[in-house]
Amino acid sequence: MKTLEDYVLLAAESHGHMCPGQILGIRMAMLGLRSIGIDDPVKARKRLLTFVEIDRCATDAVSLVTGCRLGKRSLKFLDYGKVAATFVNLETGRAVRVAARDDARAKAKAMFPAIADASQAQLEAYKVMETADLFDLQAVRVKLGPEDLPGRPHSRVTCAQCGEGVNNGRERRLGDRILCRSCAGERYYESVTGGEEDSGVRSQDSGKTERQESGG
Ligand SMILES: [Zn+2]
Ligand SMILES: [Zn+2]
Repeated sequence: MKTLEDYVLLAAESHGHMCPGQILGIRMAMLGLRSIGIDDPVKARKRLLTFVEIDRCATDAVSLVTGCRLGKRSLKFLDYGKVAATFVNLETGRAVRVAARDDARAKAKAMFPAIADASQAQLEAYKVMETADLFDLQAVRVKLGPEDLPGRPHSRVTCAQCGEGVNNGRERRLGDRILCRSCAGERYYESVTGGEEDSGVRSQDSGKTERQESGG
């Protein structure tokens, strides 16, 4: 594992700026990794899985330190809106969840009253604050199926409604039909093309804005 200072330099470069959230993310990941017995995340990258609970600056730093990435299936994003992450050692099953304490912000602000810029003061404080003042840590167990692990897709089916392929058991079964989550009612978007099956971008360039519900 690198030092905090080394990670700070790397994080600023890859994230585009340095900020308090990234210090939190770096320290959160360093603490999490040590707690599950991983000292070298580069060597351990095949036996490490990380769950992040927010899509903010801290998450970029967690990804940087752990080497876990969405595209490698080793980083899982769960949108709970919390500055927290869970680190799983796949070899031993050991897992810890590390959450940033809400009162750390107020404590940080009080630490460097001489620094005028609030964000800068917070950033410097997060670098030196006691771990216990920054984070709550709990040992946890994470239920993982083979479909959750990195590597090649565990399974692939075709949605009976839209015809799109679905990996890793993320499909839904409604009666005897196999559907993707969107077609099963969990869609997060609405089509603006007015197409029957909402299937694609065919008329998106026509400038149409009318919306048509597909009525079941
Ligand atoms: Zn940031
Ligand atoms: Zn579908």
